[in-house]
Amino acid sequence: RSSEPWRDFDRSKVYRADLESALHYLLRVELATHNTLEGEELQTFKDFVTLVAKLYPGGGSVVKLMETLSDWLLSLPLPRIPYQAVLDLVDNKMRISGVFLGAELRWVGCQGSRAGLRGYPCSLWTLFHVLTVQHEATPTALENTGLEGETSPVLQVMRRYIKTFFGCEECGRHFEEAAAVSVEKVQNREDQILWLWNQHNMVNYRLAGSLSDDPLFPKAPWPSPSLCSSCHEEKHGVHVWNHDSVLLFLRQHYGASNMSPMYSM
Ligand code: FAD
Repeated sequence: RSSEPWRDFDRSKVYRADLESALHYLLRVELATHNTLEGEELQTFKDFVTLVAKLYPGGGSVVKLMETLSDWLLSLPLPRIPYQAVLDLVDNKMRISGVFLGAELRWVGCQGSRAGLRGYPCSLWTLFHVLTVQHEATPTALENTGLEGETSPVLQVMRRYIKTFFGCEECGRHFEEAAAVSVEKVQNREDQILWLWNQHNMVNYRLAGSLSDDPLFPKAPWPSPSLCSSCHEEKHGVHVWNHDSVLLFLRQHYGASNMSPMYSM
């Protein structure tokens, strides 16, 4: 963003500031376009909050806030909730108990070379990659949440979230088409990590060179050879991915120990 100072960052890290900004935007901007939450919308929002409360790595104020929100949503027997009540809870908790979420957007690994590029969609991808990796790393985290029976709970919740709330409708349509075709092939937690990686690359291929492409961050198959050389192989002169290496790389890159607190609150 031209009005903000550039924040130097390392492309081999994941920044907590991006994940916190994602949640800030999601709760205070994206959700605000829905006056009331009810029916499937409400269920989707509850499941999203549960997923983040249980799988967001490293604890801290984000997890506390999402836990509070989750307990509150589950304790309400109401069929519909006004968005304002969600916002009041988020704001009140911040004031009273220091359970807070940054009240500003601070993009780091997701900053764009000018306003309107990168930011929120980048951080949403990042958040869900982190959740797929954390779901594998903490096998019992979703017990007794109602999500434990799903083979790919992170993808299912992501799919419903994107379809219901994500501001980019075209994106939602594409993502839903892809999920409808192949998400049932996902049989375990490793597949879940790799499915999302592969799907993200499909989007990268499609968008390379388009208007939404930031010239400083051109869309390309990811991870690049400089991030992970063993992920790339050549067979009969054709590029192929080494899926074992990709999985190892994703676990490391999106794992809790690779998260940088730099620029976060
Ligand atoms: P992003 O693609 O947002 O990636 C963010 C970061 O994730 C990258 O910087 C990199 O560090 C990492 N990354 C990149 N590729 C992978 C991968 N394969 N696996 C794991 N990590 C990776 N825009 C459209 O114009 N049309 C669409 O149909 C569309 N569909 C979308 C669907 C979803 C579910 C989402 C969340 C976004 C969609 N977008 C779509 C937005 C688009 O994908 C980008 O998020 C946006 O253009 C910003 O791009 P970016 O350069 O920040 O990188």
